[in-house]
Amino acid sequence: MGECDQSACTWDLPFAQRPIIVLGVGIIGCAAARQLLRQGLSVTLVAEFLPGDQDIHYASAWAGDAWHAAGGITADQRHLQAITHRVLLQMAQDPQSGVSVVDAREHLEQDPSPDSAIWGSGVVSKFRQLNRGEYPSEFTCGWAYEPLVTDPIRHMPYLKREIQKRGGCFIRRQMGSLQEVLDMFPASKVFINASGLGSRDLADVGDVRCFAERGQNVFLRTDLCHTMYFRNGCEYTYIIPRPHSGGVVLGGVKQENDVSPEVDMDIARDVIARAHRLAPEMVPAQPPKSALGHIVGIRPSRRGGFRLDTETRGPRTILSAYEFGGGGYSFSYGVAEALVRMVEKAERDNLEV
Ligand SMILES: Cc1cc2nc3c(=O)[nH]c(=O)nc-3n(C[C@H](O)[C@H](O)[C@H](O)COP(=O)(O)OP(=O)(O)OC[C@H]3O[C@@H](n4cnc5c(N)ncnc54)[C@H](O)[C@@H]3O)c2cc1C
Repeated sequence: MGECDQSACTWDLPFAQRPIIVLGVGIIGCAAARQLLRQGLSVTLVAEFLPGDQDIHYASAWAGDAWHAAGGITADQRHLQAITHRVLLQMAQDPQSGVSVVDAREHLEQDPSPDSAIWGSGVVSKFRQLNRGEYPSEFTCGWAYEPLVTDPIRHMPYLKREIQKRGGCFIRRQMGSLQEVLDMFPASKVFINASGLGSRDLADVGDVRCFAERGQNVFLRTDLCHTMYFRNGCEYTYIIPRPHSGGVVLGGVKQENDVSPEVDMDIARDVIARAHRLAPEMVPAQPPKSALGHIVGIRPSRRGGFRLDTETRGPRTILSAYEFGGGGYSFSYGVAEALVRMVEKAERDNLEV
């Protein structure tokens, strides 16, 4: 697995080699580590779950996963997503990354408001409004574009390799508090909390705004895995291609504060029926059982939205980057770039005695 031992990371190192410590090795922690290492910083990551693991509470193993503009977000947050799109577009040139460019058809029950995901039309490739007749008559409008999809089964191990190649170091450990992490690395000054839903349970974070949002998707093995479909409105449904895995992910389920790992077959049947209504040419009404797989994961969500900020604890700096809900992948590399800037500022401040 290539995990390092802690003592190798706690030597009495010169300033330039003191590791930035990242708690959490999901897409947020890994994206941040990759960007920091590319800037020449030293990084150690600590987490209970690492890339390749499959636990319902490790959200990054289960994402759909499409880059999709979020509605109702600020201009700065839109910029984070746009940066992510830029990075993913570059990664799509390397098949090992699991990122692919596909086609998309999005159907809307109502015209989009200015505050909706429509801003993403200025970011994605080949966006065009569909003409009447190009989308089913029960919808008000539709869009076509070329979205980026990421297969987490490939992407997370790819990131692990990228991080290790640049000298990043992984430690598998469950932590009870941030203070435990601080104590583990007495020489380090800058810490990133990217623990997702863990931030609800860490004793000295205890963020009561965090909550679990269960997702249950169906994986359908099919050769028709190059077009994404999105239905916006009362029957929120998506079909996200995973060309690298030879299939598509069918979804559109959010269950607040439900953390059951069991597959609910009523939900699975409903998801398949909705996906069939959306793209009958791609999803049969009754696909053979042998072509189906089930995905259950918990989105780390937070009332009031995600945290991305800096605080100090004595001479140490803690950067918080957690609870990206259903958009962690879409925000990931933009958040990573923001964290690089925040780390640089913290390092600068640490030089003032
Ligand atoms: C079904 C489903 C579909 C999704 N589809 C999409 C999509 O299409 N597009 C998109 O952008 N997003 C999607 N998401 C959301 C996305 O998966 C999450 O937003 C993202 O993975 C969150 O990443 P994270 O790194 O913050 O958290 P996680 O991946 O949950 O990682 C948290 C890390 O912190 C560690 N940790 C936590 N507490 C502790 C502790 N006490 N001690 C040690 N380690 C700890 C964990 O072990 C883990 O390494 C989807 C999610 C689900 C479930």
